[in-house]
Amino acid sequence: MPRRRLWGVPPATPAAETPTGLVRRARKMHRVLAETYPEAHCELDFANAFELLVVTVLSAQTTDRRVNAVRPTLFAAYPTPEAMAQADREVLEGILGPLGFFRAKTESLLKLSAALVERYDGEVPPRLADLVTLPGVGRKTANVVLGNAFDVPGITVDTHFGRLARRFGWTEETDPVKVEHAVGALFAKKDWTMLSHRLIWHGRRRCHARNPACGACPVARWCPAFGEGPTEPEVAEKLVKTEARR
Ligand code: SF4
Repeated sequence: MPRRRLWGVPPATPAAETPTGLVRRARKMHRVLAETYPEAHCELDFANAFELLVVTVLSAQTTDRRVNAVRPTLFAAYPTPEAMAQADREVLEGILGPLGFFRAKTESLLKLSAALVERYDGEVPPRLADLVTLPGVGRKTANVVLGNAFDVPGITVDTHFGRLARRFGWTEETDPVKVEHAVGALFAKKDWTMLSHRLIWHGRRRCHARNPACGACPVARWCPAFGEGPTEPEVAEKLVKTEARR
């Protein structure tokens, strides 16, 4: 059984927490994460909404670093939806090869860019309802694009965000859309995009799926999952992934 920390200050557990207490605790944790990670941002490189849409689709089942590595070649060859829709399949597969699942990803990009050309005059639509109708685009991708290319607040529930929201006791939901709504209700809408970046940043650097660095965690005192990873500072510090160690 993971060790659980008993706080000296009530509420001792999220189960005993009032809705107002939960909002206060969640916002306090967010403020501390904001101070801890002032540089948090979307880790995918992009120059415009089309690029962000494409690289977000490509980031499924691979790392942002790998996607960033293929991006210059990809957009040098196909800078617009029109160009990408007419891409030679084999050439595109060759560019996407390092990402894995390159045949499926090639198919996704061909369909996505064709839909942009046919239905939106080659422009990325700035509305969630439109974005999610595009091939291969779900709410997660749509919210990334809205928040980072259009400044429309959005919560991005990826694997890190969902895991952390549950560890933090912000929600027990596992369905990403339910997590999005439950966590969204705890914060002002204007904070949603940066909240997403900071949770994902924390998940990638400290609050790992296995062996979270609890003993080196700035939000440990408000986290009911404290103890899921090593609590000894010297041990935990070694688990922290810095930019150099990522
Ligand atoms: S690292 Fe540990 S204490 Fe920090 S948020 Fe994750 S589970 Fe909680």
